[in-house]
Amino acid sequence: MASAPKIGLGIVPVPTHRVCISTLSSPPPTPPSLHSLIVFKGLSTSRRFLTIHHSSRRPIRAVSSQEPSSPSVKGVENVVIVGSGPAGYTAAIYSARANLKPIVFEGYQVGGVPGGQLMTNTEVENFPGFPDGITGPDLMDRMRRQAERWGVELFQEDVEHIDVRNKPFTVQSSERKVQCHILIFATGATARRLRIPREDEFWSRGISACAICDGASPLFKGQVLAVVGGGDTATEEAIYLTKYDRHVHLLVRRDQLRASKPMQDRVYNNPIITVHFNTETVDVVSNTKDQMSGIFFRKVDTSEESVLEAKGLFYGIGHSPNSELLEGQVELDSSGYVLVQDGSSRTSVEGVFAAGDDHEWRQAITAAGSGCIASVERYLPKAEEVKKDLMDRDVKEGFDITLTKHRGQYALRKLYHESPRLLCVLYTAPTCGYVGL
Ligand SMILES: Cc1cc2nc3c(=O)[nH]c(=O)nc-3n(C[C@H](O)[C@H](O)[C@H](O)COP(=O)(O)OP(=O)(O)OC[C@H]3O[C@@H](n4cnc5c(N)ncnc54)[C@H](O)[C@@H]3O)c2cc1C
Repeated sequence: MASAPKIGLGIVPVPTHRVCISTLSSPPPTPPSLHSLIVFKGLSTSRRFLTIHHSSRRPIRAVSSQEPSSPSVKGVENVVIVGSGPAGYTAAIYSARANLKPIVFEGYQVGGVPGGQLMTNTEVENFPGFPDGITGPDLMDRMRRQAERWGVELFQEDVEHIDVRNKPFTVQSSERKVQCHILIFATGATARRLRIPREDEFWSRGISACAICDGASPLFKGQVLAVVGGGDTATEEAIYLTKYDRHVHLLVRRDQLRASKPMQDRVYNNPIITVHFNTETVDVVSNTKDQMSGIFFRKVDTSEESVLEAKGLFYGIGHSPNSELLEGQVELDSSGYVLVQDGSSRTSVEGVFAAGDDHEWRQAITAAGSGCIASVERYLPKAEEVKKDLMDRDVKEGFDITLTKHRGQYALRKLYHESPRLLCVLYTAPTCGYVGL
């Protein structure tokens, strides 16, 4: 059976004393780095044990030892987060610190891997706080462990169905069905790939889907590079790469660019970009050191095949937002991204928030920032929603577990048994001064 986490309080209240209690937002103890057992006591009766297997390179697998054999609804969660990229984990950390006991569906294979897009990145050099850079998997592992430390409940499952037409909302994964008051949707976007034969072999070793992320890396700096695509993404990538590289070839399948006129002008006016129309990228080729050395292409109009020297190939063929689960339920923009109100993460449905990559911002730091926005206090459930498990006595005594300061022995007893937060207790008596414990 689950038991309450240990709280640093060892004295029972004396009836004649006035008691003032503060609950401090302090994290539960950090679990050991290997094979920890975390015991949760949450509002939902379905929560019990999570066994966490840590690994420094890959995402950690979270397994519930009491997973129901078939999806069933038990209780209503405060916050459910779908997605485990920088946006999802950040939203989880903030929500957990606000004592909302969020649960996260990390995904498994639909819409990317657990940990999100950075799991395929070798070196992240622009995330603040890591002056020497950090690998994508390491960064995501750290975010996950930070979420764990705050007691976030993680399920490494794909969400298959979401209903936000009725409240409470319903989220159904391959293993379980949960209901919630707040949904934070952070499923990211997937960079479209060409699926050329040697793509997997040279992914992150010559092929990339992000010029801003990888353009400055030693692998590409000062080299001849190519970008594939003819829209705004490809032209932006090509222009960006000219900051670092010797020459950039833009490989366009059609006989014209689809990019906006200003972007086209910038490309045509840039002396180190060469545009190749009617050019289909067929594969990459390598040298004797097994390094990428060129691009094998075919001219669409003449079927002529040839190899273009290039040390890197950047995909600029767009991203697909992983928003299918909300299609027809919340407003999406013309590219399929969930529409949010300016400067916020509110969607067209009250209680549903979207965070992470959108059509404009596709960086880890912006995703994390929007995850924070989605979970900050002003968006959190209204007090009456959090009080869903209130008993008559709570109401009579004026007890509200979401507050940080309480008074009286009823509150002390409730907090001792129900709050996972550190308690700071102040005893006073008519016959002696204040005693802080
Ligand atoms: C190769 C590459 C290198 C990059 N390098 C950098 C870099 O160096 N610096 C930088 O700032 N940015 C970089 N980026 C961009 C960065 O990775 C993204 O901006 C960021 O990951 C977006 O975060 P997110 O939380 O929105 O979504 P994602 O990271 O895309 O995560 C989405 C999450 O949602 C989950 N999910 C999707 N569908 C479901 C479902 N149905 N059920 C459950 N879960 C689901 C996925 O499993 C995944 O965990 C790079 C991107 C790529 C592709």
